[in-house]
Amino acid sequence: MPEIDNNNAAAMNVFSLHGKLALVTGGGSGIGFYIAQAMIQSGAKVVVTGRREAVLQEAVGLLGTNASYFVNDITQLSTIPDLIAAIEEAHGPIDILVNNAGINMKKHAIEVTDEDFDRVIQTNLHAVFAVTRECGKRMIAREKGSIIMITSMAALYGIDRVVAYTASKSAVGGMVKALATEFSPYNVRINAVAPGFIETPMMLTAMNGDPSRRDKAMDRTPMGTWGKPDDIGWATVFLASPAAKFITGVTLPVDGGNSIGF
Ligand code: NDP
Repeated sequence: MPEIDNNNAAAMNVFSLHGKLALVTGGGSGIGFYIAQAMIQSGAKVVVTGRREAVLQEAVGLLGTNASYFVNDITQLSTIPDLIAAIEEAHGPIDILVNNAGINMKKHAIEVTDEDFDRVIQTNLHAVFAVTRECGKRMIAREKGSIIMITSMAALYGIDRVVAYTASKSAVGGMVKALATEFSPYNVRINAVAPGFIETPMMLTAMNGDPSRRDKAMDRTPMGTWGKPDDIGWATVFLASPAAKFITGVTLPVDGGNSIGF
């Protein structure tokens, strides 16, 4: 039996991202910003992307010298190989990819148009695959890397009026399992974090400022509170870190117990 190592510093090191480069899509605002911040606080350098340059500039100003940004619309699929190449040329190999960028759309299913459906699927599913394919190709060649998808509690159980969103996030959960089987032999892990009710502009807009919907959300959450965006940040740090080196193909709910089916 090996001796128990009570050295706290050594224990802390398994959560360190020191020397790693992380790409966080949609990292200029909302949950993505806090993922970037948690990764930087854990020792990583971070590149954030998004469509709005002013938002990215402000985010990088707050995140400090270990952060930089690239402006990109991930739904422009043909631009993704050049984006990833430009990031690696400027900053070196991407060790960690967090596919965080996403959109929601709240409508009764029978009112969802084909254009609505395509827009959500294009952003939350097809673009996520395209970014993952490009980064995954490079990680496989280097035989190291960690990919994390930000899905949703909507991928774990049914929620009304988010049919396209639910379809996209559930499909990403399936993609994680399929890719984990393909990427594991190359030491590339892929997992997902499924946030519950997290206080961000996207969630508050989805609730339409309706206090009764907010109360209902809390009634369904055993811990009885809203999650904070940094709760998702720390979960992604864990999955990206050496502490999670034997974890691949899973979706980790970070939801105050919401997915238990309370
Ligand atoms: P926000 O709307 O606050 O942020 C979304 C981010 O994605 C923005 O930075 C946005 O930047 C970026 N983005 C959206 N579309 C594109 C695009 N086409 N190209 C590039 N970037 C894009 O949402 P949240 O922070 O709340 O959500 C982040 C993730 O967490 C999403 O995937 C969401 O589905 C998931 N989630 C959130 C929950 C919550 O409670 N908030 C619950 C469950 C899941 P820009 O507009 O500048 O392009």
